[in-house]
Amino acid sequence: MAPRHILELSVEEQRKFIDSFDMMISDCDGVVWLLVGWIPGTGEAINALKDAGKAVKFVSNNSFRTDDQYMEKFNTIGARNVQHDDIVHPVKSIVRYLHTLGKGKKQRVYSLMSLEANETLRKHGIEYESLQIKEHLTSATLVDYLAIDKPVDAVLFDIHLDMSYVELAKAIRHLQQNENCHLIAGGSDVIMPLADNLNVAGFYDFLQHVKRYTNREATYLGKPSPILGEMLKSMYNITQPERCIFVGDMLVQDVQFGKSCGFQSLLVLSGSLTIDDMHAAPPEAQPDYYADSLADLTQLLKNVQNKS
Ligand SMILES: [Mg+2]
Repeated sequence: MAPRHILELSVEEQRKFIDSFDMMISDCDGVVWLLVGWIPGTGEAINALKDAGKAVKFVSNNSFRTDDQYMEKFNTIGARNVQHDDIVHPVKSIVRYLHTLGKGKKQRVYSLMSLEANETLRKHGIEYESLQIKEHLTSATLVDYLAIDKPVDAVLFDIHLDMSYVELAKAIRHLQQNENCHLIAGGSDVIMPLADNLNVAGFYDFLQHVKRYTNREATYLGKPSPILGEMLKSMYNITQPERCIFVGDMLVQDVQFGKSCGFQSLLVLSGSLTIDDMHAAPPEAQPDYYADSLADLTQLLKNVQNKS
């Protein structure tokens, strides 16, 4: 069935819709705010859902913010009572995955991730190596930087705006030197919507570069990875996935991910997709519902409450 706009449902259907889930898991960029800029009424919608007894969690593919920076943004939009554990982004799922991988043994990693993601590694007690080189490189200094003092258990790859050739080359060295070294990645986004009318290339092709020279497959831990889906279910005790709704602004990372977890899906048009993009997608890639923005949920709750 074609997706329906939540405010075009009858009031009775709106009530059924709101009663059909106990938890909303929402993407952040393009839904709660824009990478650069804000979306009106989203804080109010989050508060209204919580007042209506819904649990609200957030899953983003962006680790170039620390949890404290996430909290600052939630404070700015006036969303009440959001806790660190309510927010999941790739470096946090990577930390969780490393703990299972190490079976209690401390893991040492090489990070091709942002300074903010590295800060999160440090906070969680993960020993990491990273290169931040500001000097002009020559082939001789490159050789020095590529020398490996200590092997690592994993190379971690994620969005990293300062990524450089030498950092990629060192990642490849680590993987070539140690056949047991894992390659672990956050999101696999090919496009990064940066601002209104400004979509830039994502970091996926840099990962392809690492894979090409090492013949290694990567384990993905951002959306739409099924490993992340299982993690969310165990973190948030989700035993009835159909009573959970996933909200996002992208088809693959959000709608497909939500569906593959057995969640309901709601696409908002406040981010990277237009209504025409949604209609152009094959039926199985379309969401159950759509809305202009998260703010429509505030209106929907008012409609339902006025009737009761
Ligand atoms: Mg998004």
